[in-house]
Amino acid sequence: QAKASGRNTHLIFSPAMIETSRRKLNIANNINDGIKENEFSLRYQPKVNSLSEVVGYEALARWDNKKLGNVSPAEFIPVAEQSGKISAITYWLVHQVIQDMQQILDINRKIKVSLNLSAHDLKDTSLVTLVGKLLEKHNINPMNLQFEITESAYLENFELANQFISRIKEMGCSIALDDFGTGYSSLSYLTKIDIDTLKVDKQFIDNICVSERNAIITNIIVDMANALNLEVCVEGVETLEQSDLLAGFGCHTLQGYYFGKPEPLNSVLTALQK
Ligand code: C2E
Ligand code: MG
Ligand code: MG
Ligand code: MG
Repeated sequence: QAKASGRNTHLIFSPAMIETSRRKLNIANNINDGIKENEFSLRYQPKVNSLSEVVGYEALARWDNKKLGNVSPAEFIPVAEQSGKISAITYWLVHQVIQDMQQILDINRKIKVSLNLSAHDLKDTSLVTLVGKLLEKHNINPMNLQFEITESAYLENFELANQFISRIKEMGCSIALDDFGTGYSSLSYLTKIDIDTLKVDKQFIDNICVSERNAIITNIIVDMANALNLEVCVEGVETLEQSDLLAGFGCHTLQGYYFGKPEPLNSVLTALQK
């Protein structure tokens, strides 16, 4: 927001705003080189069932740049989306995840691995073709791969998202609707989309033990998902109390720091071997 400051009443950009856009530009300009220089890496965060057994992992991107240092995906993903660089990240991601899956599945064939897609990816039909080729190359059952798509990305282009999803599902992969409940969406779209899993956003989970309203709403979302035959995954579980409450609600899959933080592939492989 423009801020009038003393003599410079015509000032339109504050120094903070200029600094922010400079950083965004810096991030956008370094993404392609970052990928080439192997600065991007993946962490895998476990998902557990009601018996606390690991049933899946979510791949989460990390970026350690020479000049910018560690940049969080919460920062670089939106910049990549705005600057048209997200495709490059997604192509890298798909190659890396499917390659890593081979090692994960060699230890446990039942593990499901998920990766996050952005709105722009849903318009890219060659992405689906690539995924198919990579799964074949690494001899991976498509059932082991899940795509997480945020509610807002889905709703940005409903028609195209539906087409993309039906091609992904024809191939045998599954779809999770990520960050469910955070957008300004109506529930009616749930009757028109073909997803497998609802991922309830951390925002709801954060307060379930202190706010009865949050607990009630979360309970109802879980009941609704169960009634619709959708799997439910809750994210951001940080305490035993939350975990117990959510298990009581009938959640199938739980994810959060209480069960495990995002870890590099090697730690995941070691943990799975035990
Ligand atoms: P998301 O997909 O909703 O992922 C969950 C985020 O919450 C992750 O942050 C994860 O580390 C964090 N988290 C999980 N459990 C807990 C918990 O118990 N407590 C707290 N405080 N946090 C928890 P991260 O890795 O920083 O990722 C942020 C977002 O960036 C992701 O949200 C996802 O939307 C996006 N993202 C990450 N990697 C990728 C990627 O490869 N591609 C795309 N398109 N988006 C990505
Ligand atoms: Mg996700
Ligand atoms: Mg999420
Ligand atoms: Mg989230």
